[in-house]
Amino acid sequence: MHFDNDYRMLINGKLVDATESLDVINPATEQVFATCPRASRDNLDSAVNAAKAAFKDWKKTPIDERRALLRKAGAMIAENAGELARLFTREQGRPTNLAKEEILGAAYWLTSTAALDLPVEVTEDTETRRIEVHHVPLGVVCGIVPWNFPVLLASWKIGPPLLTGNTVVLKPSPFTPLCALKIGEILRDVFPAGVLNVLSGGDELGPWMTSHSGFAKISFTGSTATGRRVMASASHDLKRLTLELGGNDAAIVLPDVDVDKVAEQLFAGAFGNTAQICVATKRLYIHEDIYDALRDRLHEIAKASRVGDGSKQGIKYGPIQNRAQYERVLDLIEGAKASGLSLLYGADVPQEGYFIPLTLVDNPPDESRVVKEEAFGPILPLMKFKELDDVIKRANDTEYGLAGAVWSADIEKAQEIAAELETGTVWINQNLESTPQTPLAGHKQSGLGAENGVHGLMEYTQPKAIYIPKSADAVS
Ligand code: NAD
Repeated sequence: MHFDNDYRMLINGKLVDATESLDVINPATEQVFATCPRASRDNLDSAVNAAKAAFKDWKKTPIDERRALLRKAGAMIAENAGELARLFTREQGRPTNLAKEEILGAAYWLTSTAALDLPVEVTEDTETRRIEVHHVPLGVVCGIVPWNFPVLLASWKIGPPLLTGNTVVLKPSPFTPLCALKIGEILRDVFPAGVLNVLSGGDELGPWMTSHSGFAKISFTGSTATGRRVMASASHDLKRLTLELGGNDAAIVLPDVDVDKVAEQLFAGAFGNTAQICVATKRLYIHEDIYDALRDRLHEIAKASRVGDGSKQGIKYGPIQNRAQYERVLDLIEGAKASGLSLLYGADVPQEGYFIPLTLVDNPPDESRVVKEEAFGPILPLMKFKELDDVIKRANDTEYGLAGAVWSADIEKAQEIAAELETGTVWINQNLESTPQTPLAGHKQSGLGAENGVHGLMEYTQPKAIYIPKSADAVS
């Protein structure tokens, strides 16, 4: 498909405009480069009604047909990956080659999700009866997506609910609506009308959706603060909820690692997507024996890393995605400076655009804001530790529980530490890994429920037990 600069919403299989529009800013230039529809309440009602009507047939559509359509959706997104990646860079900021990886990742996710299975369970099978537990779909699902991974996370809100027989109304972030709208356009004729709807809107659209009585389920990815609002809003009619929220992930580096080998990987795990990743390393605990060497190596990498407009060649790190987040991160850096912390800066960044140098903080106290808060931007605190018990306690001393990592040549010891970390995911000698078959679950204030794998499918169904006698003797 050739992309024009015309963006419309997908409602009931048709591309639809709204009476009001929304400006979309390129974070590398701070300029508005596109406008898209700002959905009204009527648009939302139309989308929900279309999804409700489509649910009647979709839930009865044989699962193999639903699988085939999801695979087709994946293939069509992959076919358009080049155009989508260029658009992605303009609205999100990430360098185009890395944007393309996300788009191909979304295609892979849809295809792989199509292969998952949630079979009927049999809890009893005797001479007299059989009890079956079916996993039945919920109805219309509201999928709300943040701006940091606008395409991959959209695929997570599309694949599992559609596979399990639900229909979907998807809402991208107002900061990054364009790729989701184009994906709606690309998939327009793949699914029956109303099965997948895509709405773009302003800050009012999310709360309208979470309080809309037509939704059976809200699947939300975003900050913990917003997650709490979503939960409150969904409570009046007991909507089902999946919440994937913020994190303040700790990585623990033991003294037996090869500093040169791990430094690049640790750096990528913290600063990938300019540190705007929910599961990025946000606190790095380094054993005192290797602290100075690893800190210096990380600083060298920061100084050599090119930050700039993601549409230009050779850029590895783009801007912060939006002004509010840019100002939050700047405030965190100013606060760290004002309290006398030692900051180590990476390479210079362009003046125009929401750019921040990749920054390390040299052994700040545990109670400082840069350690306590989820920065969601390129400022990484490095902390020294001596004893394992102490570092595990410090790593767990947070309201969050999304992911964590342990780096050591002793994999058994690393597994013992992994068992102690209060997070839904722990990586050993790797980071940022995720697969369509494996649940990503936020513990503590990082979420509710899980996405991906069979656990993820369960979130879009409810169990229905059917007691089946082996004979009709009781009634005849
Ligand atoms: P955000 O909470 O501000 O917004 C997320 C989405 O919610 C957007 O689409 C937004 O328009 C919508 N929204 C805002 N207020 C709403 C409301 N009251 N009701 C309903 N919807 C509302 O988050 P963000 O700034 O876009 O994303 C960054 C955050 O997302 C970080 O905290 C990050 O850790 C988290 N995140 C978590 C995961 C995960 O899987 N756990 C993945 C990516 C990002």
